[in-house]
Amino acid sequence: MIGIIFGPPGSGKGTQASLIEREFHVTHLSTGEILRSEAKRGTAIGREATRVMTMGDLVPDPLIIRIVQNRLRRPDVRSGLLLDGFPRTVEQAEALDSILTKTGRQIDFVIALDVPENLLVERLLKRAGEQGRTDDTRKAIAERMHEYKTLTAAVLDHYRRRGVRVEEIDGVGAPETVFERIREAIGREN
Ligand code: AMP
Repeated sequence: MIGIIFGPPGSGKGTQASLIEREFHVTHLSTGEILRSEAKRGTAIGREATRVMTMGDLVPDPLIIRIVQNRLRRPDVRSGLLLDGFPRTVEQAEALDSILTKTGRQIDFVIALDVPENLLVERLLKRAGEQGRTDDTRKAIAERMHEYKTLTAAVLDHYRRRGVRVEEIDGVGAPETVFERIREAIGREN
């Protein structure tokens, strides 16, 4: 099973991905987490990513595609995979399609979390207080919303056009409530 969890910043992708990982025994792969861990370790990729992330911009497609390509070679993704935060551009989606096709795999579903923008900003500012992420400032949040609307939203159309199942899930409510909706949607697909 290969799934993608998709949605704007603050829609609860990370939280839901952890719950899906536990329930469906898939490997959760978050590109944001990979970049934050590179940043913490002070690697060259990490230093470049920190600069870009702090401004709320996206890291360049070739860099993130290379990271995902390498990660997908590891054996732990064979039993199942949930991508979180990737792909974020149509170029990334096309690169992923070609990586998967070459190894005879395909995307089974996309879970798209739907949350109104005013609630997203409220959640991100709350997270800033709790986790201190450098990109949860008002300015970076505005930029990330802009990137999402101009680049990332088109990724959903890419999958719809290709006939991949896209499940739109109401992302408003307690994490467990939202997860119930996701569990039901994933179950429907099997
Ligand atoms: P996230 O944890 O998914 O919200 O990602 C945090 C930040 O990491 C984003 O705002 C981007 O700067 C960067 N990032 C994560 N995933 C990607 C991606 N697929 N493409 C480009 N930038 C990314």
